[in-house]
Amino acid sequence: MSFLLPELGFEYADLEPHIDARTMEIHHSKHHNGYTNNLNNALENVALTEQPIEEILRNLDMNNAALRNNAGGYYNHCLFWEILNPNDKQDLDGDLESAINSSFGSFENFKEGFSKAAATRFGSGWAWLCVKDGKLEICSSANQDNPIMPSIGCGGKPIMGIDVWEHAYYLNYQNRRPDYITAFFDVVNWRVVSEKFKNA
Ligand code: MN
Repeated sequence: MSFLLPELGFEYADLEPHIDARTMEIHHSKHHNGYTNNLNNALENVALTEQPIEEILRNLDMNNAALRNNAGGYYNHCLFWEILNPNDKQDLDGDLESAINSSFGSFENFKEGFSKAAATRFGSGWAWLCVKDGKLEICSSANQDNPIMPSIGCGGKPIMGIDVWEHAYYLNYQNRRPDYITAFFDVVNWRVVSEKFKNA
């Protein structure tokens, strides 16, 4: 089996000025492409039948560093590009809005909590919005770990995530990770996140 680098469905420049074209190009064609190739190489060394990426993550041997890093990197970036797709961008729908209000009190509280999780993740990693036992939760993970993996202290089905590796923002924002997080909220496609919430 082999996984393919997904096409973006939009142009590298389409998220400007919030996320610049050069960052997008390197991030997709170099970083995500690297995770994809390394995932396929890692899978050659384990006896896995054809499984969706979620199954591979759910049953992951956390001691298999090559598979852990690259299956995570593959999945995380696929999700990231989906929720950044600027086509048919809409506000969050009523169901997700209600769930956010009941889990966090208000959208502003949610945004503050998510931004804090992203800003305070030390080093490289991700912050997530997950559906767990029918409720929404915010968490973060190191490196390319994600909430689908076993026992990373952050669980559930991710419906939104932000990449806070420096490669995601350093060209444009340098050390100003909080500015990048603010810009991320300007480009999130809530239609896609709302659909993921429905299907979670
Ligand atoms: Mn990345």
